[in-house]
Amino acid sequence: MKQYLRQLPPVHELQRDGRFEKILRTSELSQDQLTKVIQNEINDLREQILSESLAIESLADQSLTDLIFQNAEGKVIRDSQDRLTKVINGTGTVLHTNLGRARLSDKAIEHVADVARNYSNLEYQIEEGKRGSRHDIIEDLLREVTGAEAAMVVNNNAAAVFLVLRALAKDKEVVVSRGQLVEIGGSFRISSIMEESGAQLVEVGTTNKTHLYDYENAISEDTAMMMKVHTSNFKTIGFTESVATEELATLKDQYKQLLLYEDLGSGALYDLKQHGIGDEPVVKDTIQAGIDVVTFSGDKLLGGPQAGIIVGKKDIITQLKKHQLARVLRVDKMTLAALEQTLKTYLMGDEARESLPTIRDITRTADEIKEQTEGFVQDIQAATTDYRMAIQKSTSQIGGGTMPGVELPTFVAAITHEKMSANELAANLRGAKPAIVTRIQDDQVLIDFRTITREDMPDLINGFLQVTHLAEI
Ligand SMILES: *Cc1c(COP(=O)(O)O)cnc(C)c1O
Repeated sequence: MKQYLRQLPPVHELQRDGRFEKILRTSELSQDQLTKVIQNEINDLREQILSESLAIESLADQSLTDLIFQNAEGKVIRDSQDRLTKVINGTGTVLHTNLGRARLSDKAIEHVADVARNYSNLEYQIEEGKRGSRHDIIEDLLREVTGAEAAMVVNNNAAAVFLVLRALAKDKEVVVSRGQLVEIGGSFRISSIMEESGAQLVEVGTTNKTHLYDYENAISEDTAMMMKVHTSNFKTIGFTESVATEELATLKDQYKQLLLYEDLGSGALYDLKQHGIGDEPVVKDTIQAGIDVVTFSGDKLLGGPQAGIIVGKKDIITQLKKHQLARVLRVDKMTLAALEQTLKTYLMGDEARESLPTIRDITRTADEIKEQTEGFVQDIQAATTDYRMAIQKSTSQIGGGTMPGVELPTFVAAITHEKMSANELAANLRGAKPAIVTRIQDDQVLIDFRTITREDMPDLINGFLQVTHLAEI
């Protein structure tokens, strides 16, 4: 194999090759940058030859020079593409944590673009002509949609939980039910975040049952707060009991300085129960039940940007805003812009269902989805006979660690290809531009149209045609 070493061309020779000029013309690389790419490819090949790992058969009748240019061109194309890029979500999971959770509404997107493109009054009071606070931008809106006395926003809900514990319970005890010591997404555990914050966790009750007297017995002079955690990503069923917020609020009132805090997780502002979907509490009800401070995500059921929203009693929020960590965890103007428009949508009544993609996707009916699925199947079958497609009843998940027990009735296209396994087909669809992400079940690729917009349809159909075309060559 070592004889190939002598055939490796020097880089200056390749610079004179017509293909060097061609890549230069079609890419945005400078001469130096492209030379570096080519040199790296030569080095790679040399290493492969020395380690005897070069697949000679794959060379066929190509020369090493051909191979170097082929690899270099592939690398240049890959590097020119955005790393963070649009994908088509064919999984039907609306708040897919790996696929960016909530999509924003058109109004939110326009507002973000406007604020990003221009200067803004982020920390400026226009009328007075003096310094303002970014907290003021959406506090009124948050008060209005949640009924809370005061509100602020931080980077995400994990940050909100951390700030609340650190600022209000450091070196003090926090009483939590054992049934609510949740882990979310592998990297966020209530017990760990509590430890990081310097607050001391006092576990009460058992995994399935916690009573009011468990809390009562745990309260001491060192107790700063009772914390409830919404068990948003799992469900205990059977012989279970937890204590209602109202009861905890009554217990709390017997002690001075004791706070009642709930981490709601999702923080629904729109009541999905009216569509018979789940039993997720609405933030307003939680506030009314007598909670001092509540935290929730901006990009779960709320359908806005990634953010952690903290609402509650005015003196508490004021204390949180003054804490050093508030500056560490503060949000950007683009987040505030997106959140402002998202919240405004909720003030317009049923508008939320129409214009927020998250709420719209969750409340789409199975019939509507079936119709879209039929259209897709017809379009594909008119263009190619390579796929076998059936329309099947199925269920979609809400996702994002939200409402685990809820299965939304849907229809899916169950697809096989005559020349590929389901795994191969799914991998090839992920290689389409834009990538198409699907589910696999019983050796079939499933596409759930709950999360596919009308605008996605041409790309989706193209993707399927690209993939079967590749199978032919
Ligand atoms: C999702 C969730 C979090 C974390 O929220 P992020 O916005 O992802 O940081 C915290 N607590 C609960 C109960 C959650 O469901």
